[in-house]
Parts: sequence; structure tokens; C-alpha cells
Amino acid sequence: MDKKQAIDQGIMLPVMEAFYTIQGEGVHTGTPAYFIRLGGCDVGCVWCDVKESWEAEKWPILSVEDIVNQALEYPGRLVVITGGEPLMYELGPLTGLLKKNGFTINIETSGAHPFSGTFDWVCFSPKKFKKPHPSIYEHANELKVVIFHKSDFDFAEKHAVLVNKNCHKLLQPEWSKSSVHLGSIIDYVKSRPEWKISLQTHKFMDIP
Ligand code: SF4
Repeated sequence: MDKKQAIDQGIMLPVMEAFYTIQGEGVHTGTPAYFIRLGGCDVGCVWCDVKESWEAEKWPILSVEDIVNQALEYPGRLVVITGGEPLMYELGPLTGLLKKNGFTINIETSGAHPFSGTFDWVCFSPKKFKKPHPSIYEHANELKVVIFHKSDFDFAEKHAVLVNKNCHKLLQPEWSKSSVHLGSIIDYVKSRPEWKISLQTHKFMDIP
């Protein structure tokens, strides 16, 4: 089997970086976690803070065995699969092997590709730049919408009606626009308490 076939089947994946840190945002804020950042993204957010992830070809292709063995070197047993856009890949083999090794598995995704893999927690962060695939809505445990422009509140509500009723709903100021939008996010959440605020606390802590 060549590399392309192995990637198509999710047996090998492009890994931009993997590191042990603290989950800085969303419902699991403050939890130590091993992040696996897959290379490749075709969503194209203007404010993306990992634009270097977009070209998958730039990053080493690793077997899922190697990815999991590296994760096992750290004491935490929470893995966060992120990107790039991780659902560009078939994630069944990676999540299956992580689960066999006792990991809790979370994903951060824009939902722009068909859902694959088995997760303990799905953080769905839809982006205006590429429409989510319909398969994401039934899986989302957390809807996290980045507020970059005031029209993003309406965008958030459009997705909120599509996720299941137990899904946590979070609004997160885009880092560079935080001083512009934080006040209106606070007012919004106070008047619509089904929403909560997520902050990028890893940026305050100056950790990855
Ligand atoms: S989906 Fe994520 S990685 Fe892709 S462009 Fe948007 S913020 Fe960047």
C-alpha cells in the first residue's frame, strides 16, 4: 500500500505537531491534554492563527501506532485531535487505537467534512468560510462560535437550532478582536443564558 492509500484509510496521517499542554478553551478549559494537530485545512478562516497548518504536504506522515506511542509518553490520558481540519481524514484507526490504550478522546473541528472516528467529546466550531457537513450536528457536544464580527451572533444562533438539546453553547471572542466584542458578548450571554463565554486562556497563560 502506498502512502496516499494509507492516508485515505486513516492508517497514516500528516502531523503538524503534537504536544502536551493545558486545554485553554471550551468546556474542558484547564484540563491537561495531549494535542495532536493534523496538517491540512481547506476552510480558509481569515483570522486563522495556525495558517501554517493548511498545507498537509508540509508535514510528516506518521503511522497511527507512532502517533499513539508518542502520546503514551505523557501522564495525561486526554487527547485532543485538532488541526488544521482533522475531519479531512478518516479518523477511525487513530481513535480506535487511542481508545485501546485508555485515552479519552476529544476533537476540535469546523465540521466541514464528513464525520469519522469515535470520540468522547466533539467540539464543533463552525466557520462562515466553509459550510459544515450535515453529519456533524448529531455528534456535537459543544458548539463553540468565534465572534469576529457582530454578524457572528446570528451565525451562532443558526447553528444552535441544529445541534442536539444537550449540546453546550459557547461564544468565544476572536483573540485580536477581543477588546471590540467582549462587552457585547457579556451582554449577549447575560440576556440569553443558554450561552456561555469561552476565552482562550492558553493565550493568557502564554502556553501552546
Ligand atoms: S478551520 Fe481552523 S485551521 Fe482551518 S482555517 Fe479555520 S481556524 Fe484555521
